[in-house]
Amino acid sequence: MQNNNRLRIVIQKSGRLSTDSKQLLIQSGMKIDLEDKRLITFSENMPIDVMCVRDDDIPGLIMDGIIDLGIVGENVLKEELLKRQSKLEDSNYIKLMRLDFGHCKLSLSIPINTNYFDINFFNHTRIATSYPYILKKYFDDKNIIFKSCSLNGSVEVAPSAGLADGIFDLVSTGATLKANGLREVEVICYSYACLICKSNNMNLFKKSIINKLLTRIKGVIKARESKYIMLHTPRSQLKKVMKLLRGAEEPTIIELGNDNKKVAMHVVSSENLFWETMEELKLLGASSILVLPIEKMME
Ligand code: ATP
Ligand code: MG
Repeated sequence: MQNNNRLRIVIQKSGRLSTDSKQLLIQSGMKIDLEDKRLITFSENMPIDVMCVRDDDIPGLIMDGIIDLGIVGENVLKEELLKRQSKLEDSNYIKLMRLDFGHCKLSLSIPINTNYFDINFFNHTRIATSYPYILKKYFDDKNIIFKSCSLNGSVEVAPSAGLADGIFDLVSTGATLKANGLREVEVICYSYACLICKSNNMNLFKKSIINKLLTRIKGVIKARESKYIMLHTPRSQLKKVMKLLRGAEEPTIIELGNDNKKVAMHVVSSENLFWETMEELKLLGASSILVLPIEKMME
């Protein structure tokens, strides 16, 4: 039964997205005991209920308009979308934002000792996959005829078991492929976790909670990418240091106690930029460098 006074969010129950999804909701200020194994858990401080299910069920719950908001991998979302479109079923949803976890890629792999020339290698082959609709779309666009062998698990053993000539599956480190005598030959797409919502019949109350949550989630992600950097720099090099270490806003410059040749600079900057510029900062004479985590950040 729909309750118009409480927003419902669906996340993965247990798997590669579940810890990050739970952490994101909690860091966004939601008081909720997600360690509980219940199907639905109620937030104590916000009008939000969280439902934990298998990731494959998440896009359908959103597209059917049963649940308001969901966190799911783009790979699973795209597969469900193409499947529903091919069957002319409801497939509407709104992608609110990409999240900063769940990075992986969908690739074609074949046995290590097989000779590979180009994508036409796959003409008239059989490919084992849990993503037959994404694969079909990709091969249809390239006029490649293939047969798929749909498996929901252990896809990587299909070639050695004589079930398929190759596989189309998620790859992260490549260790599973190697352990099964396979090598990646084509990357078809990259995937991230994303936040999606249903596209129909959302009342104003729910819309306002979603907007509040979105602002908080953006703040949490921004804070995770950023660091509070404090350093001392020769006054003569300050302009160059400021140019190198660009921040979210203008830096704070502070005088030092007994050294007027140097100043302290405080800036909120991206962690990547800090690592990229660290050698140059040192060459400019920066010292006493401290890099601190930021818990939350609202611009
Ligand atoms: P479920 O039991 O919920 O159906 P599953 O076994 O289908 O789970 P998981 O292996 O937990 O799925 O992966 C969930 C999602 O996490 C994938 O669909 C993908 O979007 C993402 N993912 C896959 N591999 C990685 C990885 N190495 N690192 C981060 N995210 C990943
Ligand atoms: Mg799954």
